[in-house]
Order: sequence, then C-alpha cells, then structure tokens
Amino acid sequence: LRVQGLAPADVPRDASLELRVDLGFLSTHPGFQAEGIAYDAHGRVLKGIAPRNDYVPLDAGPGEPIDVYVEAASNPDIGGDWSYRPTHLGDPRTAGDDHLYVFGGADIVVRDPVVAALEADWRTLHELAAVLPPESTRRARILNALQDAVDAVDPDDVAGTSSTAREALRQALSRPAAASAHVVTATGHAHIDSAWLWPVRETIRKCARTFANVLHLMEEYPEFVFAASSAQQYAWVKSGYPELFQRIRDRVLEGRWVPVGGMWVESDTNLPGGEALVRQFLLGRSFFAREFGVETTAGWLPDSFGFSGALPQIMAGVGIDSFVTQKMSWNETNLMPHNSFVWEGIDGTRILTHFPPVATYNSDLSAADLARAERQHAERGLSDTSLVPFGYGDGGGGPTREMLETGLRKRDLEGSPRVSFGRPDDFFDHLRCDLVAPPIWSGELYLEFHRGTYTSQARTKLGNRRCEHLLREAELWATTAAVRSAAAYPAEALRRCWQTVSLQQFHDILPGTSIAWVHQEAERRYAETVAALEAITTTAVAALGEGADPAPMEYNATPFRLDGVPALAAGSRSPAASRVVRQEDSACVLESDAIAATFDEAGHLTSLVDRASGREAGRAGRSGQRAAAVPRRAEPVGRLGCGRGIRAEPRRRLRACGTFADVRGPAADHSPAWAPRPSNRS
Ligand SMILES: [Zn+2]
Repeated sequence: LRVQGLAPADVPRDASLELRVDLGFLSTHPGFQAEGIAYDAHGRVLKGIAPRNDYVPLDAGPGEPIDVYVEAASNPDIGGDWSYRPTHLGDPRTAGDDHLYVFGGADIVVRDPVVAALEADWRTLHELAAVLPPESTRRARILNALQDAVDAVDPDDVAGTSSTAREALRQALSRPAAASAHVVTATGHAHIDSAWLWPVRETIRKCARTFANVLHLMEEYPEFVFAASSAQQYAWVKSGYPELFQRIRDRVLEGRWVPVGGMWVESDTNLPGGEALVRQFLLGRSFFAREFGVETTAGWLPDSFGFSGALPQIMAGVGIDSFVTQKMSWNETNLMPHNSFVWEGIDGTRILTHFPPVATYNSDLSAADLARAERQHAERGLSDTSLVPFGYGDGGGGPTREMLETGLRKRDLEGSPRVSFGRPDDFFDHLRCDLVAPPIWSGELYLEFHRGTYTSQARTKLGNRRCEHLLREAELWATTAAVRSAAAYPAEALRRCWQTVSLQQFHDILPGTSIAWVHQEAERRYAETVAALEAITTTAVAALGEGADPAPMEYNATPFRLDGVPALAAGSRSPAASRVVRQEDSACVLESDAIAATFDEAGHLTSLVDRASGREAGRAGRSGQRAAAVPRRAEPVGRLGCGRGIRAEPRRRLRACGTFADVRGPAADHSPAWAPRPSNRS
C-alpha cells in the first residue's frame, strides 16, 4: 500500500503526528493475524504495524506531504479460538484464495501527550484497584481518586480537561511501594516462533516488523531494555534488512538490546542428539560474538516442550551460567515446586534457573500479571525478585508504549510490585546474591503437556535424525581427508548444513506442531541436506583414495569394529561375513558375532540374545517394542501438529531402539556419573 497525503495545516508545529493504519485487524488477539511494516519514501523502515500497535510516527510538519509505504501481510488467523481443530488454511494447496481481511483505512492523527498520559494514569490505577483486596484502604482511596478524575473530564473537551483529571490522580500515583514489595525485572521481549502457524519466510518478516517497533520504542524510552534469542532470527534480519540490523547492533553495544539464549533457534531439547544441542549453542554464541561482540550467559527457552537432563552440562560447557523458561507452568498435573532454584543435570552440573512466576512470556505489565508474579513466587521467602518478559509475540509487534507507560508508573507504587526495567543477566546477578541456599532440582524437567509431539510428523523426525548422522559422517571423513590427503575442508558447506538442521529443530518444527506447509518445507530442506552431505562424504572418500590392498576399502563411521574394519577407520572387510539374516517360520532372525535379534511377522522385536553369555534381554512372550515404520506420504490435511496426515506402512524399514535391558551387563558397569540419582530434593 502507498499512503500519500498532506498533514493538516492547522496543527501546531510541534504536534505529534501519526499515521494509524487498520489492516482489517481482528480484536481477538494481538498477533497471529494481519500485520505490516511501514517504510518512508526512501525505503527506510519506519515501524511495524500490528493489531494493538498500529501507529507509524510521521515527521511531516503542518501542511507538508506524507508518503509512506506499507507492506501488509494477510496471515490467516489459524489459531482462531485455539481449539486446534483441523483447518484447510495450513497448506497453500488447500487454503483457497478467499479474502481474509478488509482494509479499514489509514488516518492521520494528532496525539495529545496529556490525554495519552491520563489514559496511562487511569489504566494503571484502575487495574491496580481490581487486584487489591476489596476491604483495603488503598483500594478505596484509588476508587475515590478515579471518581474525581471522571468528574473532571468534560466529554466534549477531553484534551482541555485532561490536566485537571491527571491532578485528581496524582496523589494516588505518588504513594510509594511497601518496603518488602516484590521487585520484578521487566525485560522487553517478543516470542517469535521461527515457524508455526506460518512458514519460515513469514517469520523473517515478523522479526523485521517486531524489531523495527522495538527500535522505535527505544528512541522514546531510554529505560527500555529488550531481550531476543535465536541467532537465526538476527541472521535473517542481517541479510534481509541490513539497515535495521545496524540499528540493532548499535543498541546491543549500548547494552539495551540483549541477545540471549545463545542458541541458533529456541530448539526442542528432547529430540535432538547431544551433539546437535552443542552445535545449537556453538552456532548461536559464535554469531553473537562475531556480530555483536557479546558472550551470552543466560539460557533462554521460554516455550520448549520440556528439558533434557543433559542440558545443564551442555550449557555450562559452552559458557551459559543461568537458564530461563516458563513452559513448566503449563504442566497439567504436577506443579513445579520452585521458581528460583538450581537445576542439576544428570552429570551433576548445576545451573541457576528461573521460571518467571508471572507464568507467561507475553506479559503486558498489567497489575494482574504483576500480582500473579508475586503471588506465585515459590521462593518469596528467599528472594524478593522475579523476571517478567513483556511484549506481544508472534506478530503482535513486541512491547508497546502502553506497557512502558504503565511499567514506569509502577516503579514505586503502593499496592504493586516494584517494576525495574533491566537485563536478564543483571536479574541473575541479583538472584545469585539472594539465593544463599537455593533449592535443587535434579534431572530432567519433564513437561506434562504436548506429549503427542513424540509421535507427530514422523518424516520430520526421520529427516532430523538422518541428517544428524550424516553430518557426523561427513565431518569425520572430510576431516580425515583434510588431515591425511590435504584435501580442502568444506567448512562453509558443513556450517550451512548444520544451520539448516538446527533451524528445523525449532520447538514447533521438529516436535511436529506446525501447519502442513512448515513440515513439507522441512522435508524438502532435509532432502537437500542429505544430498549435500552425501556429496561431501563422496568427495572426501575419493580424496582418501584406495589402500594398498586390492580389496575395496570399507569406511566404518561407527564406534564399533565392523567386519574387520576398525572403528572410525577405513580398511578391507574380513572375508568371512559375520552377520546373517535367516527366516525361522514366520520370524526373521538377525545374527552377528555379538547378538541375535528376532522379529515377528509384524516387525516386533520378540527376542534379543547376547551371544557371548546367552543372556536373553527380552521378556518371554512379550515383544519389546514396536519397530518404527517409515510412514507413507499422505495428502496433507492441514492439521495442527497432530500427525493425522501420516499412515504407518509396516515393515518397510525397521529401526530398533527402545526398552530392552542393556545386554552388556548390570548397571554397576556404567560410569557412576550416569547412575540414577535419588529423587528430587529441596
Ligand atoms: Zn514458541
């Protein structure tokens, strides 16, 4: 859209002019629908446009021309009522071309700062009164002040009477907070899912719109601090919106824009392999170090679906010393007992961890949110502080000036927790001092929710695991070729493959909770990555050449000796094949020197014998598991992450993993560091 016109000639020269753009917004939620970004006539980004953040600042004087371009996005409201019913809107092939929104117009408005301030005064006190005890003196005094303010406003001359109304509220707004009031560190944030109810290409634009809003807000509010994770999202902005990226870089240097998390994306942590989790951090932290010169220290996964007990060790290993998530507040049955505690991983590594008791990553800094943060803070006897990430995510445009205005009024306000705008690392420094003897949670943080994610979108999960394995093999042989044959190491190609695989590990892609479009794209990316990695391996093996032995070389990437070829090495295969496959009645038996595995007709593993000891690892008459089947491609149904579009095709490929006892011996043979630990303790 191109919006042209003239600013009104009869406004004061210092009037604050804005363009208000209505893209046909629904009133239901702040994001997940139409949104846009505005540019000036020279192509410079001015600001994002979102349902509850719909203004664009204008620098035109009275009577001067206005020329603004708006790139608008007609994103379908797939979330709707959040019932997760099947929808045709999740796939371009079934979405149709019905118009989704009706342009509601663009208006030039004059923003009166006194009226705006009165609105913020009023809202702050009105919301506060609603959360105070009905019998409290403070609440009664606030209600009286609000009544006086209403009486002071002339509906026919709001601008002319707002100052008087503000005066009626001044005393109620100036009463200080209690000495023991809870203190929240308010960090601006926008949870932007790297793909979910929209494809990756739209996420790139969501990032630009939101980041543009944040940069504009930083010009207006010097106290405002914003934290954003996911190096991938910064990388998108760097390549697609370089001018915006430079402005972000300036704010990072200033210390008000805080790259957090240190991962490539906010990944799932249960499905990726340990190596892949390490790479998430290496890719993310190296990007932040290279582009911004910062070492991220706060782990940041507010929305991932549970947290592996391996994570503390991995985070500590890469330099992360603290961790934030609010997802555990979604547990269906057992509430997590702590908000501020030490999380101990399976190897004993400990990480200072905080579950913001506000229990959201989209706070609006309302009185209700802040009261909840204090009320639900389990460690209130140990610490007086908690973190509140505030701002609309996923296309809502991030923090708004309304949030900032109410937050500023609560810096020291009777009846409210104190609001202090700040950085997550400063919050953790404070928390570290508070928690002299912190509670300890040992092992996994299991989310009692989203359990269907482990069986949804099997092709996406297959692609991830296949690529993780191929990445390892490609790196192994490419490194060997570089060392042994002076072949060029394909570092950049491998980095691109890791970045692609890491992006697909995002917490709505790999778990299978996105629309059909996202999963179709993920499968294409995996196929491209498989081809690229196989080419790297082929080139490396060719560079290594044949050995002196006339027999063909075999390359064994496993950590086990295979057919006479040593682990992680190349060599000639032993003449005697050590593995056999034979049919016994309806069963199929696979034998090696070490084990004999029997599968029944349906592909179930019915027996697993350690041949050296003769020990049966299965249970008589019981199959150990169901073998995972590679699913047949089915027509997309646009279902939200339920995997309805997949039908199993038994026996096409068997992948054994699972519930049989370790055939190598009892648990005492394992490293003590990995032995089961006692139940959680406080
Ligand atoms: Zn999310």
